[in-house]
Amino acid sequence: MFKSIVIGTGPAGLTAAIYLARANLNPLVIEGPEPGGQLTTTTEVENFPGFPEGIMGPDLMANMRKQAERFGAEFRTGWINSVDLSKRPFTLDLEGGEKLQAETLIISTGASAKYLGIPGEKDNVGRGVSTCATCDGFFFRNKKIVVVGGGDSAMEEANFLTRFASDLTLVHRRDELRASKIMQDRVKENPKVSLGLNRTPLEVVANDQGVTGLKVFNNATGQEEVIEAHGVFVAIGHTPNTKFLGGQVETDEHGYIVTKPGSSETSIEGVFACGDVQDTKYRQAITAAGSGCMAALDCERFLESSAVHDWSQTLG
Ligand code: NAP
Repeated sequence: MFKSIVIGTGPAGLTAAIYLARANLNPLVIEGPEPGGQLTTTTEVENFPGFPEGIMGPDLMANMRKQAERFGAEFRTGWINSVDLSKRPFTLDLEGGEKLQAETLIISTGASAKYLGIPGEKDNVGRGVSTCATCDGFFFRNKKIVVVGGGDSAMEEANFLTRFASDLTLVHRRDELRASKIMQDRVKENPKVSLGLNRTPLEVVANDQGVTGLKVFNNATGQEEVIEAHGVFVAIGHTPNTKFLGGQVETDEHGYIVTKPGSSETSIEGVFACGDVQDTKYRQAITAAGSGCMAALDCERFLESSAVHDWSQTLG
């Protein structure tokens, strides 16, 4: 049995693992289908403090992993089919039939950006297609950009990207945006933005140099059009990776884990959450890492206090 199992290996999970390992708690870290998390799908990370020249996303994650291993964190690759959180120790069912038990759990499974699922999209991730304006916007200075989506995320990404873009087209599949009025207004008032409403994305068009445009179906005219762009930012939402919890931990209506304000505690004692799986607002590598540190400290304190509790019960 493990004192603590960390599920997920993005900045949140790996930071939690570093802290737990340094506290001699020998955590087991489960690496899922996206080892290293979303940062491994980006190129250069320029806003993670401590790297004045920037660092490649995959290198940053490899460094964090090495740091956790150095202090004794153990890693295992596996898909968790389900968990039983009804009693402690908690039980995790791994694909292949293996069962693991832990006194505490840290959930840092992140959120996966949704993709459109159109031709040319996945092939051009890192060559003009992105799901993260803060990560990649800088690479599109004075370039044409398309943002796809009609929600608050798309508005936020579009506004942010106009700092770099020569001009930007916001493509949405309906003639009405879903975003809140205030966010819509900011976009509509932005002189660099053109609205491409009522347009369904069909294909990301690219050549050897990278993306050249987005082919869309104009629902009003029934015609196909290509909107010229060097960058296509897909901002149609994220899916928090919480399905495997089977509804045992409280989540909001979008599936994000609810943590007690100012802490990483979830609705279940001994289960902590950190990183994007519980963050709909900041979603940055550095905030994820910070919340991973919080989860490890909360977990340590919980283990200390439950050890005292067990001891007094033995005496009694
Ligand atoms: P969202 O509200 O679910 O919006 C997703 C948008 O993408 C919708 O407009 C949707 O179109 C479009 N879309 C989805 N699948 C698509 C597809 N396959 N092809 C084309 N378009 C597609 O997601 P979100 O914008 O990420 O926001 C999630 C939550 O976070 C919301 O509650 C939001 O308010 C909140 N949030 C708040 C802020 C803020 O306040 N600063 C910032 C970001 C997010 P339809 O409209 O046609 O369904």
